[in-house]
Amino acid sequence: MTLAAGRPYLAIPGPSVIPDRVLRAMHRGSPNIYEGPLIDMVAGLMPDLRQLAGTTGHVAIYIGNGHAGWEAANANLFSRGEKALVLATGQFGLSWANSARSMGVEVEVLDFGKSSPVDMGRVEAALRADARHEIKAVLTTHVDTASSIKTDIAALRAAMDAAGHPALLAVDCIASLGCDEFRMDDWGADVMVSACQKGLMTPPGLAFVWFSESARLRCGRSDLATPYWAWGPRAEPEEFWQYWDGTAPTSHLYGLREALDMIREEGLPQVWHRHRTLAGAVWAAFDAWGAGNPAIALNVADPAHRGCSVTAARFGAPHATRLREWCETKAGVTLGIGLGMAPSTDPAYHGFLRVGHMGHVNAHMTLGALAVMEAGLVALDIPHGPGALSAAARMVAEGA
Ligand SMILES: *Cc1c(COP(=O)(O)O)cnc(C)c1O
Repeated sequence: MTLAAGRPYLAIPGPSVIPDRVLRAMHRGSPNIYEGPLIDMVAGLMPDLRQLAGTTGHVAIYIGNGHAGWEAANANLFSRGEKALVLATGQFGLSWANSARSMGVEVEVLDFGKSSPVDMGRVEAALRADARHEIKAVLTTHVDTASSIKTDIAALRAAMDAAGHPALLAVDCIASLGCDEFRMDDWGADVMVSACQKGLMTPPGLAFVWFSESARLRCGRSDLATPYWAWGPRAEPEEFWQYWDGTAPTSHLYGLREALDMIREEGLPQVWHRHRTLAGAVWAAFDAWGAGNPAIALNVADPAHRGCSVTAARFGAPHATRLREWCETKAGVTLGIGLGMAPSTDPAYHGFLRVGHMGHVNAHMTLGALAVMEAGLVALDIPHGPGALSAAARMVAEGA
């Protein structure tokens, strides 16, 4: 038997749940792309995108996913043969490093493993060791979606300053923008990359690169920036088509407009608070389950280093896969696979899963997903400690 009929819930770390308002806003015929309302609407997106990132700098929009955002940042930051220092705290830093390397950038990786935050002392030492200042930029994820580790961007900037190194700081906020607090200017980030399908609640298809005036000045001669990727005309177009280097992604732009309206109506600090509270509920449930079974544990031990949009956890193989399958087929809740923790051919792979809680998600969705997981643990006879749901409910009660 199954109880899955009804509205399904995709609780994976992106793409996230798309609000009905966003879907309705996208459902329209092609607008005029030469004059009229679309042109005015797009001009109005730019201040909202800047505010979302916490910057007075520039923003360029690309038709693409997060990988396209990485390539856009790489193409503008570097010339062939210039050097990047990449900080890896899971999977996505390593993937950004691969993307830069394949474009001809020389890449040095500092890998902090799958469960530990960036060691700022190692970053400072690596920058001090670069006495000739060959490293042009430090690339890092804000929240690595595979491990759910969050990097303290202000502390990273302080480490770079302590080393007296002039490298630019570029941050991937694809999993965190619109979920976790981020302040590009206050924290000293020069470049920030994001995409629309996670905290921004819009179907995959738009990537964004924010960049400071000093990044613009220092990267003006990058020889990787072909016309399509060059951020300059996109940020300061003389004609409308230059925003996109071609035809505008019309439906996506109307969806994004609606999503930004929803964030503004709720208020960005409130959006951060909602994510922090719901993450706290998820963590409390895992702590209670794990108290009765040491195989169940959050991937990141210290809450201060956990992102608020996604939670990576262990269940002991093969129980993570069994639980995911039960939740999807019996109750209509799809949980995320474990990413980058073990190869999919390794039996250990079936011991990892992730819960997404990003974007259009509220207390009943998160508590519902946790209750379904609890039902699955019971149905599958997976040992677990008691009290997870009341612990999660308490977090919601305190945060509401
Ligand atoms: C999702 C994600 C990406 C990749 O985005 P795609 O749209 O899948 O290309 C990169 N970095 C982070 C932190 C992500 O969460």
